[in-house]
Amino acid sequence: MDIVDGLQAAPQLNVIDLIPVGVIVTDVVGNVEATNRAARDLLGPDLDERAFWEHFDLPGGHEPLVDRARRADSSGRVAPVEITGTAHHSVGVGVPVSVAVRAVPADPRRLVITVRQLGEEYRQAIRLKAFEDRFEQLATTVPTGILSSEFGMRADFANERCTEIFGVAADELVGFGWLDRMHPEDGLVVEEAIAAVLTECTDRRLGARVLHPRGERRVELHLSPVSPGGVRDVGFVVTVDDVTDRLDLDEVLVAQSLQDPLTGLANRTALWQHLERALAEDRGHPAVLFIDLDDFKDINDSLGHSAGDELLLVMADRLRACARASDTLVRFGGDEFVLLLRYVPDRSVVDRVADRILAAIREPVDLSGHDTVVTASIGIVWPGEGDPERQLDVEGLIRDADIALFHAKRSGKNRAERLDAEMRDGTQRRIGIAGALRRAVDTDSDELSVHFQPIVDLTQGHIVGLEALARWTHPELGRVSPVDFITVAEESGLITALARRVLDRALAPLAAWRELPGCEDLFVAVNMSARDLTEPRLATYVEDALARFGLPGEALHLELTESAIMTDPAMSLGTLGALKALGPSIAIDDFGTGYSSLAHLHRLPVDTIKIDREFVSSLTPDSTAMIAAIVALAGALGLPVVAEGVETTEQAAILTSLGVPLAQGYLFSRPVAAEEIDVLLTLLVGSPRERSA
Ligand code: C2E
Ligand code: MG
Ligand code: MG
Repeated sequence: MDIVDGLQAAPQLNVIDLIPVGVIVTDVVGNVEATNRAARDLLGPDLDERAFWEHFDLPGGHEPLVDRARRADSSGRVAPVEITGTAHHSVGVGVPVSVAVRAVPADPRRLVITVRQLGEEYRQAIRLKAFEDRFEQLATTVPTGILSSEFGMRADFANERCTEIFGVAADELVGFGWLDRMHPEDGLVVEEAIAAVLTECTDRRLGARVLHPRGERRVELHLSPVSPGGVRDVGFVVTVDDVTDRLDLDEVLVAQSLQDPLTGLANRTALWQHLERALAEDRGHPAVLFIDLDDFKDINDSLGHSAGDELLLVMADRLRACARASDTLVRFGGDEFVLLLRYVPDRSVVDRVADRILAAIREPVDLSGHDTVVTASIGIVWPGEGDPERQLDVEGLIRDADIALFHAKRSGKNRAERLDAEMRDGTQRRIGIAGALRRAVDTDSDELSVHFQPIVDLTQGHIVGLEALARWTHPELGRVSPVDFITVAEESGLITALARRVLDRALAPLAAWRELPGCEDLFVAVNMSARDLTEPRLATYVEDALARFGLPGEALHLELTESAIMTDPAMSLGTLGALKALGPSIAIDDFGTGYSSLAHLHRLPVDTIKIDREFVSSLTPDSTAMIAAIVALAGALGLPVVAEGVETTEQAAILTSLGVPLAQGYLFSRPVAAEEIDVLLTLLVGSPRERSA
């Protein structure tokens, strides 16, 4: 049957009309000879009237297509020539189509053209292709390795970055190749992770090592399941990040954070780690030596900071030489070092190391041309001795070593002190006392008071002044000696607040006393600590206190020890100058016990010298040289002298004979409360009633 006849033969029920693809038969010039229903639906019922090719937009036009179809025919092949383009319905709607042109071998005048509408399926394919292109582009440009598997553990794709990370071509990575290139110790872990990702449909992250031909690389793997429609056990995608360099940097940073930049020694943070390990492993046998250079501040101040750094470097080297390989040497901060000894069998070992360190530090050192000798103090803790029940922690160990160091400093420096129970108890007591004292000072509590001890004119026998002495009654401990609580106050920074309380209580009764006949020039002497002199507002406070109690400056004397002034002479001179400008006179307390500062004495704004009671107590008619010398010196500087701690009439007599004008001591009166001074002064000058009469 002729094909054209077949197409048109049965318009009611034509088999070809059932085909969902448009079929058109044209002659050589494109006149439509026959169409089926699908073709008419697609292109319009008026198909016959239009030149067939006018219905199409085809890339390159239809002629080459027709030519090729004919040539295919002349070469004996009947394969259709296909192209995609747009077909236009006669109402103007364009739809994407695939057009196939086939020459009819038996009838060269005719062409059979099939037109397939490209609908959803086509668009999806296009989208998929675009997506694939985009994925490929992404996969090649991202700086992350990507491996994927469509099914199971076998990889079927590896991007370029992956080949760089593994150091082999992509085809060596696909399949199980990539797993074979994992470090043998990591391969199994990675496989287990993939299995988990596949079966549990969850993400996994893990670190692993890759055997790159040029050396091991460290990678981070992020595995995600590919589970179309939530179906498990399908495929996965792995991103591979080479973190070798970052980890190297991290290691450097970690190392740096544990290292002291100046000396290259381990730092405080590292010490904590070492100590924790030592305590866990050594079963009570590590030893800690807390080493502090003596008077390092002076070197810094006098020779400059770079000389200070130079010194620290030299000392760090010397300490290194004293340590064994198993020991840890740490720069704790500033001029403090800690040496941690491990597995110390007995205390003599620690002592020997400490001695070696002290000797090594003492060796002269050349600091930019200055031959300098530096010493160190060491606090030792060796938990191997003492209470085996005692629970030790890192904090406790360092604190104990610090306490021992404090004692080494206090006992004169250039020595090592071992922590003992007495030291620890003493320190704990001091800490307890500091808390109670702070409360008393803050609340201006009645626990605090001031006692007064008369200062007497030896020749006239009358009271010229009163030394104010702080008193504190602890709620449980009872009376605490000022020697103890003043030290605590100095160490805990309470001293300036305390000084203000004492000053107020000392000045409060004075105005009334000065109204008594013969007492017009009476003064109160208040003790000041080194720390008080560093308080810039001290002079303002003193000025204000004098004004509040209506007292002239001369009514106040300030007592300072030599060492207080010499702690920071420049600062002291400044503060003393400001204080003196307000009128108070300045006395050097405990003279003869501090640094020998006779050379400085004439430069200090000092008005009186108080000879320490040590000299007075050792005074006999045959041994007066010391006091005679001090009196002579003071005389040369035009300064009056007060002898402290006069307990016997004999002492008083000798002092008078040596020309000491003023004295204080139990012989005349113990320090007593203000009310007793009321009585004392009244008795000496006559009863108040007599006075007012
Ligand atoms: P200091 O300033 O040298 O005070 C004299 C100390 O000698 C007082 O001791 C006093 O009670 C004692 N004393 C007086 N006469 C005799 C005597 O004949 N024989 C003996 N054995 N001792 C005598 P206290 O009151 O225990 O004070 C001790 C130190 O505490 C004072 O020495 C002073 O340095 C310090 N201090 C007291 N109150 C204060 C204060 O308010 N501020 C400061 N910064 N220090 C104070
Ligand atoms: Mg005093
Ligand atoms: Mg004194």
